[in-house]
Amino acid sequence: MYFEFTEEQLMIRQAARDFAQTELKPGVIERDEHQKFPADQVKMMGELGFLGMMVSPQYGGSGMDAISYVLVMEELSKIDASASVVVSVNNSLVCYGLEKYANEAQKQKYLVPLAKGEVIGAFCLSEPEAGSDATAQHTTAVDMGDHYLLNGVKNWITNGNSASTYLVMAQTDASKRHNGINALIVEKGMEGFTIGAKENKMGIRGSDTHSLHFTDVKVPKENRIGEEGFGFKFAMTTLEGGRIGIAAQALGIASGAYELALNYAKERKAFGKSIADLQAIQFKLADMATEIEAARLLCLKAAWLKDNDQPYGKASAMAKVFASETAMKTTIEAVQIHGGYGFVKEYHVERLMRDAKITQIYEGTSEIQRIVISRDVLK
Ligand SMILES: Cc1cc2nc3c(=O)[nH]c(=O)nc-3n(C[C@H](O)[C@H](O)[C@H](O)COP(=O)(O)OP(=O)(O)OC[C@H]3O[C@@H](n4cnc5c(N)ncnc54)[C@H](O)[C@@H]3O)c2cc1C
Repeated sequence: MYFEFTEEQLMIRQAARDFAQTELKPGVIERDEHQKFPADQVKMMGELGFLGMMVSPQYGGSGMDAISYVLVMEELSKIDASASVVVSVNNSLVCYGLEKYANEAQKQKYLVPLAKGEVIGAFCLSEPEAGSDATAQHTTAVDMGDHYLLNGVKNWITNGNSASTYLVMAQTDASKRHNGINALIVEKGMEGFTIGAKENKMGIRGSDTHSLHFTDVKVPKENRIGEEGFGFKFAMTTLEGGRIGIAAQALGIASGAYELALNYAKERKAFGKSIADLQAIQFKLADMATEIEAARLLCLKAAWLKDNDQPYGKASAMAKVFASETAMKTTIEAVQIHGGYGFVKEYHVERLMRDAKITQIYEGTSEIQRIVISRDVLK
């Protein structure tokens, strides 16, 4: 067993670190304040190959491993989780799903531009009344022979307005319950497809979260991914990998807050000495460092299993639940270490604290992760 990264992994981590400092950090507070999508930065990340990291070069991707993906997600998320969620969704939920399950024509048409970062994608499972219970799909895709007629509403869709390609889960045969759900590739601009207002969120405010409305949208049969009724399995297997991305995002939010708190503790003076000399602060830093390291190891383990074609559902759920809880705890303590300065925007930690919360909710809440883990340990 080797706890060492390869040269290539270290290089890509450094590239992400440099990019986050030079391109994401300036303007991150303003983007958060004004809920501005980081469009220019997303374009640059596409050029750097961050949007199709694990896709084979044959389909326009960077052909990297999941370990590299974790390293990049951590570095980007230290600075801007609104930008890193674009990387996570495009890589894990959209490109991965298409590369693994789409047919050759679909890959050429949709995967190649997504993997090159020329366009971005969205993954559309949640609905107003179907969140944790994703089987309760109300969106319907009625089989009309050569096309499906799509009707319904999707909620909380990341990249909702900025995406061009949408992977939409919809119920075709309700009598078969989750085995009657299809995954369809829907293009922006298809007649009857409209985008709702942007959500005004507590955290990841730069991320572009919208509801989507489908009214008699004709989706060609050739846009179905996999066999008839494969949509639910498609969504669940794709989310298993997605959780590695969100776990790494949570890890980055935690380690970003920790680094800020560590530096601040060394600089801030109270009672004639640096607050880093106070044991109360030292113990907070010790706990933060320990939990972040544990979260990092869980993320890397899940990524390693994926890279080595071994089952990783339990490992990705463990990584997500632990890293997201670490992100929440660490960011709260980082604000505490900053005292009053932690409560204002220019010190960044209050934003990281707000951003941390979503990692316990999307791509399966912490409660759902515990269901996944307990099912596995009890089987
Ligand atoms: C900013 C943001 C971005 C998102 N992006 C996307 C996206 O791109 N695509 C997409 O499809 N979805 C997206 N989502 C939706 C997200 O995945 C759901 O919000 C999440 O799955 C929870 O569903 P819900 O909100 O309906 O909550 P509910 O399912 O109603 O859950 C409410 C509470 O009940 C708990 N609960 C529910 N069932 C159980 C159970 N069986 N046991 C124990 N506790 C339970 C939950 O853990 C939670 O605490 C996003 C959400 C947000 C807020």
